[in-house]
Amino acid sequence: MGQSDYLREPRGRFSGAARAVVLPGSTAEVAAVVQYAHAHGIAIVPQGGQTGLCGGAMPDQTGRQIVLNLKRMRRILALDPVDGTVTVQAGCRLSALQQAVAARGWWFPLSLASSDDCQIGGNLATNAGGHNVLRYGNVRELCRGLEVVLADGRVWSDLKGLTKDNSGYDLKQLFIGAEGTLGIITAAVLRLAPRPAQQALTLVPLPDVATAVQLFGHLNAALGEAVTAFELLSTFSLDLVTRHFPDLPAFPRTGRPWCVLIELSRTGAGADLAAALADVLAPVVGAEALHAAVTAADRRQMDRLWAVRNAIPDAQRREGPSIKHDISLPRGRMAPFIAEVLPLLQARCPGVRPCIFGHLGDGNLHFNLSAPSGGDAPAFLAHREALERLVHDRVVAHGGSFAAEHGVGQLKRGEMARYKDAVTLDLMRRIKRALDPDAVLNPGKVLPEP
Ligand code: FAD
Ligand code: ZN
Repeated sequence: MGQSDYLREPRGRFSGAARAVVLPGSTAEVAAVVQYAHAHGIAIVPQGGQTGLCGGAMPDQTGRQIVLNLKRMRRILALDPVDGTVTVQAGCRLSALQQAVAARGWWFPLSLASSDDCQIGGNLATNAGGHNVLRYGNVRELCRGLEVVLADGRVWSDLKGLTKDNSGYDLKQLFIGAEGTLGIITAAVLRLAPRPAQQALTLVPLPDVATAVQLFGHLNAALGEAVTAFELLSTFSLDLVTRHFPDLPAFPRTGRPWCVLIELSRTGAGADLAAALADVLAPVVGAEALHAAVTAADRRQMDRLWAVRNAIPDAQRREGPSIKHDISLPRGRMAPFIAEVLPLLQARCPGVRPCIFGHLGDGNLHFNLSAPSGGDAPAFLAHREALERLVHDRVVAHGGSFAAEHGVGQLKRGEMARYKDAVTLDLMRRIKRALDPDAVLNPGKVLPEP
């Protein structure tokens, strides 16, 4: 990568200038850079694979900040087969970690469409979620220990990897999800899982979101932990994949506006998962939908189905300009929220095409809006602020969050000011002042201007 690649996000929405881009090769080198910056009043922007897309890993425009990218720190330091943990440097790419542990017979359950690019440190700094959150939790739940370079250059290290340790505050939790504003994560101990021995994956068409939520409840009751993914996909989002990726499998037209992609998995042997899934589906979705369902017969077909799901963001990009929302809601509020907000959006921007997909099981949706077909891009993007306000106001009114997965970065600082209550913001500022009193680490991110 040339320096400019560190200074512009892949989608081009955020860019910046830097005094230097540093690529340290060890924790000691990270600490030395931070000590220097601290002594000279220079701000540091920690950077991973730049897939967060909220401007969190971008420096400002002044050219005075230092970008510190961890990509050279990519070693697996240890794998403990008794505890089922791996200790890894923060710059290791997620897919590289997945492959390394698979080669040793283990499985790391964090799975994102960006796994070839994002780094473990970035995953931890954003508390990444992804496809397997239902069963394994966000990366916070997978983290057993951290090593962090603090704002004054000291190293705080807790890489013991204990499952239980109630000896005082659980400090690692402060750095997870802090988007690089409280410390620079340099290494982590992560929990591994046995590789599932049996899996089933089915895409089922559905008439509405309420049925999807109801189906999730039934599946959970009947199959519990075996439900590892439950993704809601609007038929429109799948149609975009068919249009822009003709080599990927297309779906039989059913006229139904929604689909769910359900993955079950189990580590041990037991009754056939696909049959168990069909038993739960039949009474809820009906014979016709079950007949139209697409079920993967083997690993290759599973990968192809997931590839369709993962291609949605790219397909939407190829379709033209879009306005994106990364929201979460209590599951019971999803259908009422969508029913309420869609007509409001059409009234505000006639012809807007909602491209909704995401992790319904976690209450998390990518509530994206594509421009009206044949419309003019600047005219559509001129609606951005009004449409974002409309969606986020309704999300918050329904008890949800405006930043479920990708974090706040620079993009949603305004939303933090608008929607977070005063006590929460005060506590966050006190923590920031306690750990980084001189604002060395990622200033201008997450917290709104006082
Ligand atoms: P970056 O984007 O480089 O940085 C993100 C933030 O973390 C910045 O604030 C940066 O300063 C900070 N940071 C980075 N490294 C460190 C470090 N070592 N120490 C301290 N701070 C650090 N996210 C999900 O949660 N679930 C998904 O399913 C998901 N799917 C995605 C699919 C696509 C196609 C894309 C493009 C993104 C997706 N994301 C998803 C968002 C993104 O991949 C995650 O937020 C990821 O965890 C970011 O990692 P990164 O290394 O790219 O971090
Ligand atoms: Zn997602």
